Amino acid sequence: MNEVKTPKKPLIYYYVIAMLVLLLINFLLVPWLAQREILEVDYGTFITMTNEKQIGQVEVQEQENQILFTNKDNTAIYKTGMMDDPLLTERLYESGAKFSGEIIEQASPLVTFLVSWVLPIVIFIGLGQYMTKKLMQRAGGPNAMSFGKSNAKIYVKSSDGIHFSDVAGEDEAKENLTEIVDYLHNPGKYKEIGASMPKGVLLVGPPGTGKTMLAKAVAGEANVPFFSMSGSEFVEMFVGLGASKVRDLFKQAKEKAPCIVFIDEIDAIGKKRDGRVGGNDEQEQTLNQLLTEMDGFEGNSGVIILAATNRPESLDPALTRPGRFDRRVPVELPDLKGREEILKVHAKKIKVADDVDFSKIARMASGASGAELANIVNEAALRAVRDGRKYATQADLEESIEVVIAGYQKKNAILTDKEKMIVSYHEVGHALVAAKQSNSAPVQKITIVPRTSGALGYTMQVDEGNHYLMSKEEIENKIATLTGGRAAEEVIFGSVTTGASNDIEQATKLARSMITRYGMSDDFDMVAMETVNNQYLGGDTSLACSAQTQAEIDKKVVELVKKQHEKAIQILLENREKLDEIARYLYDKETITGEEFMSILNA
Ligand code: ADP
Ligand code: ZN
Repeated sequence: MNEVKTPKKPLIYYYVIAMLVLLLINFLLVPWLAQREILEVDYGTFITMTNEKQIGQVEVQEQENQILFTNKDNTAIYKTGMMDDPLLTERLYESGAKFSGEIIEQASPLVTFLVSWVLPIVIFIGLGQYMTKKLMQRAGGPNAMSFGKSNAKIYVKSSDGIHFSDVAGEDEAKENLTEIVDYLHNPGKYKEIGASMPKGVLLVGPPGTGKTMLAKAVAGEANVPFFSMSGSEFVEMFVGLGASKVRDLFKQAKEKAPCIVFIDEIDAIGKKRDGRVGGNDEQEQTLNQLLTEMDGFEGNSGVIILAATNRPESLDPALTRPGRFDRRVPVELPDLKGREEILKVHAKKIKVADDVDFSKIARMASGASGAELANIVNEAALRAVRDGRKYATQADLEESIEVVIAGYQKKNAILTDKEKMIVSYHEVGHALVAAKQSNSAPVQKITIVPRTSGALGYTMQVDEGNHYLMSKEEIENKIATLTGGRAAEEVIFGSVTTGASNDIEQATKLARSMITRYGMSDDFDMVAMETVNNQYLGGDTSLACSAQTQAEIDKKVVELVKKQHEKAIQILLENREKLDEIARYLYDKETITGEEFMSILNA
């Protein structure tokens, strides 16, 4: 791997230097130049010179107890100490000296002019020329051949690179990319029959699912050079530089073909161009250059461009049309089996106890991405070191799931007894409502140890296998479970706290989706009232209906949540003793498992 980068200094750097130089001139150089040498003489000399009328200007500095004076033609400055001399003023007056207050500050006007006007201008012109030269160099200067060097990191053929076996799960994505590896190995086979490989492949999926890894693995498997650059690196402050980087990247790539060019975060340059007022010229030019380059080289030149994004819907259609990035490989969050495999791949890099149950860990870490799973394994190793053990145990892994998802335990957060009691009831309320509705163990674990994420308590849900569909009843039950925490507070303490804000948010979101997206209300039938904007990043939605319908939707959402909230309160009232018993148990122990929970419930 050799990557060469020219260090870049931002413009502000030059401005700061210019300012510093100016300040230096004004505060040091001007006073220094202005200051002429002062000769110290005794009072006798002063009186003699006064009598001989040889004094030009005079300044009596009473505070400093001294007299400054010049000779007749103002070429030298003298200084003498003050004496108690009642005739001083009279004698000076008779000598014809001019009384002045600023002998010291007086410098020759020519010097002052030179220093405070001419010098700064000269410095500015010099700096300006220097900067222009710098910028020209950066942009390649008049020499068009070297215009805008790209910073593409070049990974020259490396056998120790990443392979498909390092990427766990993601079987569909790997299958999709295997064809490309095969093509890079043996392009002749494809040329013979006249088939051409897609020039561009778009890897789409949520962050941390291994898109970069997959791209590297393709290069590793095919044993070809790997050029990688992030979309944001193309977008520069100066219009035209991004485009020249693209040009340069492709020039390098064509020389090294067959090879893989990987552009991460392509949405940074590939955003839709329309509808933007006063659009971003630089981004547009860069995108145009990319399109031109992609059209420019032959389909079978051996350069394959892989690009990754987690917002495919924002890409410019010109980028995804046939002949450009026409193949799309989804890289989704791993399922249960995938999570287990990823955990195992990463666990190979650390020492783990023999009895670790990866499938259980995978089940507990539902919804985690590959990057998060890698992080969980690493946290477990760190925890083992902290405790002075030689290998990571099941407990380490379980604790690090919570660390990665909910943050570290907040050791110094001190809850009052009352608060701790409320949190216990709140968490048990969730669990109890869930258990009574499904008649099975609803949780892995409940804890009331505060976390750095701000959560005061935490309930780890059970995730048995994969779940692709959810029925209307299941969603309703889930909403009831979410309201269960607040319901317990109401039932026991008769008052409510702020602790339920996250529950409220989630319950509302679910209820809203039921009505606007899943067609689960009687009135709106199968009409979509909302569309999802970006499915991989949070999935925020935008409404697509009249204001009147919106008001109706809002009413329906409230009705739905209210109904489930009442159901939850009902369940808790019916199981009041169990609620008390489990909450007290949790209050004492701070952490209980799903089994403990069920055994008290069924006792
Ligand atoms: P993306 O580009 O999709 O945001 P990366 O490829 O950069 O994600 O993945 C980040 C890290 O997460 C990788 O370095 C790797 O350690 C881990 N990781 C992600 N997905 C997987 C996977 N499927 N198998 C193994 N490790 C993975
Ligand atoms: Zn809650």
